Amino acid sequence: MLAIDVSTPQTPADFGQPKRVLVVEDEELIREMVALALQDEGYSVSCVDNGRDALACLTGRRAEGDDRAFDLIVLDIMLPHINGLDLCRVLRQQGNPIPILVLSAKASETDRVLGLEVGADDYLCKPFGMRELIARCRALLRRARTDREQNTPEVFAFEGIELYPQQCRVVVRGEEVNLAPKEFRLLELFVQSPRRVWSREQLLDRIWGFDFVGDSKTVDVHIRWLREKIEIDPSRPQYIVTIRGFGYRLG
Ligand code: CA
Repeated sequence: MLAIDVSTPQTPADFGQPKRVLVVEDEELIREMVALALQDEGYSVSCVDNGRDALACLTGRRAEGDDRAFDLIVLDIMLPHINGLDLCRVLRQQGNPIPILVLSAKASETDRVLGLEVGADDYLCKPFGMRELIARCRALLRRARTDREQNTPEVFAFEGIELYPQQCRVVVRGEEVNLAPKEFRLLELFVQSPRRVWSREQLLDRIWGFDFVGDSKTVDVHIRWLREKIEIDPSRPQYIVTIRGFGYRLG
């Protein structure tokens, strides 16, 4: 992987944490200009210079100590290892809904159409101005947020547990419970599919990322903490049940 800049911007582009943008571009000058322009807007920017590293960033373990997923990709088409169109195609096949803004020197109608067909959300032809780039990025992030809000139910409820995904709130038997981010995401996964059995490996993949260095004991530890916060009797869990030899299940 090339330079990763996780500098904290002065002015967050949105409320809460700054949006994370992955810039995938092999031309150094363009990459740096794009990264700077986005940072100036308050986004947190990471850069890679080829498609293979981009895929690793997007499907694998994120930078150490930072498990937030990216919110947007600015993606060049002509790239070493895996080109931008193939990368788009792979991400969409994996069901990854992340907004993608494709950059390309190819101005022909065919390439534009191809980019959108493989799942890019918008398209910018080189050379482009940084103000236009920023405007497109903003629009994509805004649209993604609206889609997410429309698609996410306001509350998941399961036998005395209410989880409000948009507010990161959990109420258990009428009382507000404070969960750490990993605990919240575990519970969110469980309440979305009650009675589904999750193996430790599946939970590791979903919550920690594929390349997580560590073992499935991590899952057990977080499950224990979660139980202490939501179960009536954590030593005899009613909600998060252990299925011996398989993993865990809600209910
Ligand atoms: Ca290129």
